[in-house]
This record gives sequence, C-alpha cells and structure tokens, in this order.
Amino acid sequence: MIKLHDLHFKPFISEDEIQATVQHMVTAIADDLQDEVPVFVGILNGSFMFVSDFVKKYPKPCEVTFIKLASYEGLKSTDDIQRLVGLTQDLTGRTVVILEDIIDSGKTLAEVHRIFKNENVKELKIATLFYKPEAYKKDFKLHYVGMEIPNKFIVGYGLDYDGLGRDLPAIYQLKTTQHMTNFVLFGPPGAGKGTQA
Ligand code: 5GP
Ligand code: MG
Ligand code: MG
Repeated sequence: MIKLHDLHFKPFISEDEIQATVQHMVTAIADDLQDEVPVFVGILNGSFMFVSDFVKKYPKPCEVTFIKLASYEGLKSTDDIQRLVGLTQDLTGRTVVILEDIIDSGKTLAEVHRIFKNENVKELKIATLFYKPEAYKKDFKLHYVGMEIPNKFIVGYGLDYDGLGRDLPAIYQLKTTQHMTNFVLFGPPGAGKGTQA
C-alpha cells in the first residue's frame, strides 16, 4: 500500500506485467507497420514512461515526438482539455501512432483527432496502454489496447494523483473503503442510492 496526499493506493499491475504488455504492443505494431518509419506521438505528461519503454523495445527505426494536453484535475476528467504544447513538426504523408497512457472518457482522444485532422498524415493509429471501457464515451477506433481495466482511478507508470505517483514503476489502484463505495444519498425523495468511485 502507498499513500499519496490524502489517499491510499494498493498494488494493481506489476512492473513485469506492464513490461510484457508493452512488448506485446511493440510486436503487433512493428509487424503491422512493416517497412514504414513511423512517428510515435506521446501525449504528455502521463505517457512519458510508456513511450520510453515502448521505443526502447521497438526493433526498427522510428521517430518520437510529444504533444502536451491536460484534462484531469485530481481524480476527475474535466471538460476543458488544454493544448499546452502542440505539434512542432510537419507530419505530412507520415504514418503516425499515438501513444497514450490511458483512455478514460475519450475527451483527450477527441482533441487528438481535432489536432490531426488538418495534418495530412498517411495514417493515424491509436495505441493505448490502458483502457477503461466502462468510462469511454466516444466512438473513435482504438487500434491497439494494452490492457482493459475497471473504471477505477489508478496511479503509477506515468499516471499521477495531483502530481504524485508518476515515478512509480508499477500501477496502483485507489483503495476504497466500504463506507466510500456504497452510501445512501440523503437527497430529495426518490434520490435513491448512490455510488462513488
Ligand atoms: P480522458 O480524456 O480519456 O477522459 O482521459 C485521458 C487522460 O486522463 C489520460 O491521458 C490521463 O492523463 C488521465 N486519466 C484518465 N484516467 C486516469 C486514471 O485512472 N488515473 C490517472 N492518474 N489519470 C487518468
Ligand atoms: Mg494521457
Ligand atoms: Mg494527471
């Protein structure tokens, strides 16, 4: 168990499992791209560790660049996606593979599609290490998914909780206690039972 700020997290996905998953993704993508020299585009900050491990395992020549988007505040995805650092290189005619740490609501992915709409790339593929199917609200195709995970907040391997936890080499999941996961909502009549992540 680890504590970050006010919250406790329990071990969820080990370093070995992550590395094996990254290797599977590398093998599938390298196979599909054959002789293309792809440009891997990492979405900062969360993807920095994934991108680093991914390109170290990638067996063929490739380029790597980053864009910086932010949508998360604390434990929640917000509607306001900020483009903090955009594309700095011309990707016309290139095969581009987006490397995302995690796809949650899909809002960040929608912004990625907006950014690439005018870039005239040859092909745009989406690869994400983690994917929360229960949270995903868009219908953009995900070409490569490392692991599907439940709709619970995780930290580690690049993912943070208010700035902390990015440095951890494994993934930890928010520990919820009984009274937090199931509570009665004392609202107006008929408000019923609520749940909290
Ligand atoms: P989306 O825009 O799909 O809702 O969220 C994507 C971004 O939100 C991810 O790139 C990541 O930075 C952040 N995010 C989504 N789910 C989690 C999570 O469980 N833990 C952490 N630390 N960040 C998350
Ligand atoms: Mg991300
Ligand atoms: Mg974050």
